[in-house]
Amino acid sequence: MQDRIWLSLAQMGGGEQKYIQEAFDTNWVVPLGPNVNGFENDLSKFLGEDRHIVALSAGTAAIHLGLVQLGIKEGDEVICQSFTFAASANPIKYLGATPVFVDSEEDTWNISPEWLEKAIIDRKAATGKYPKAIVPVHLYGMPAKMDEICTIADKYNIPIMEDAAEAIGSTFKNRQCGTFGEFGALSFNGNKMITTSGGGALVCRTEEEAKRTMFFATQARENRPYYYHEHIGYNYRMSNICAGIGRGQMEVLDHHINRRRAIHALYTELLAGCDGISVKQNPTADFDSNFWLTCIEVDPTKCNGKTADDIRQYLDSQNVESRLLWRPMHMQPIFTDCPFYGDGTSEKIFNRGLCLPSGSSLTDEQIKRVAYNIKEFIK
Ligand SMILES: *Cc1c(COP(=O)(O)O)cnc(C)c1O
Repeated sequence: MQDRIWLSLAQMGGGEQKYIQEAFDTNWVVPLGPNVNGFENDLSKFLGEDRHIVALSAGTAAIHLGLVQLGIKEGDEVICQSFTFAASANPIKYLGATPVFVDSEEDTWNISPEWLEKAIIDRKAATGKYPKAIVPVHLYGMPAKMDEICTIADKYNIPIMEDAAEAIGSTFKNRQCGTFGEFGALSFNGNKMITTSGGGALVCRTEEEAKRTMFFATQARENRPYYYHEHIGYNYRMSNICAGIGRGQMEVLDHHINRRRAIHALYTELLAGCDGISVKQNPTADFDSNFWLTCIEVDPTKCNGKTADDIRQYLDSQNVESRLLWRPMHMQPIFTDCPFYGDGTSEKIFNRGLCLPSGSSLTDEQIKRVAYNIKEFIK
């Protein structure tokens, strides 16, 4: 049996250990320090738009602290894209608020602007209050329709907490994902574009917001000689060791993005002849996905009856890891009581989609083996 091909493995660039060694040599083995500042500066330069970055222990923590600063409280409603990973929605629940899930559109698989506006109007009619925030997601790295989403958010004066956990390096109209919202969340979990072994960051518009984020991330301690607290705080800061990994990863971020895009292009070429398989593409030139994961849609009627899950199981038997798409949040037991607005689009995509191995360390030969296995199985 050939070596297993994994979905999305971490890939080190080589510079990481130098920064970790520096941290040890100077005894900065704490949740702050030169690597944390350096990593934040690198991210800020990469994103542009004059953003201020705060490195945190996870992307989930970033979303949580963004919502804290948007004033989300018990009894509030927050609109969230349904087609996503649970980490987009769980922080809404941490704050005692209710997620209102909105369906996707076909072009990007992200939150449908049409259903978003319908949801806003209907929630106001049903509860007398507008939702307090909107959480759009750039799923699998594909930018959401941010023009339309921001226009609607502005019209109703509702802030955006942008979940760019999968989308570092993706751009919409040449602007980096993560910089559109009032706040943006990035993730450096082990399977994302770059990793700190586990970590995240909150993208802030002002230095004041960044300072406030650090305040909440370090137990909300007031500036007094004794420990004094006026707010509930969190222990969410990134360690100087993890940030060292992050600095090394920033040196190869462009490489990782280019490689994931090249893998997507190779799958597109190799699967071009398969009638029942389509590789998800940027809908127009405005969208430039990092293609964190290359996704396919499977039409069983043109694949000898084979479904996406049949292909997944066959690939597994050939020692290839693939994964079904995120199961939408309105279809999750934990969220069945939450309002949902949509027409079944995300459920339809979920039923026919599959994520293919896309890690930046994969070779062309490995991608060819995956495509060959798919073609053999459905023919
Ligand atoms: C990974 C991910 C997160 C959470 O990031 P962590 O760093 O794992 O906490 C949030 N949203 C989406 C869409 C993700 O894929």
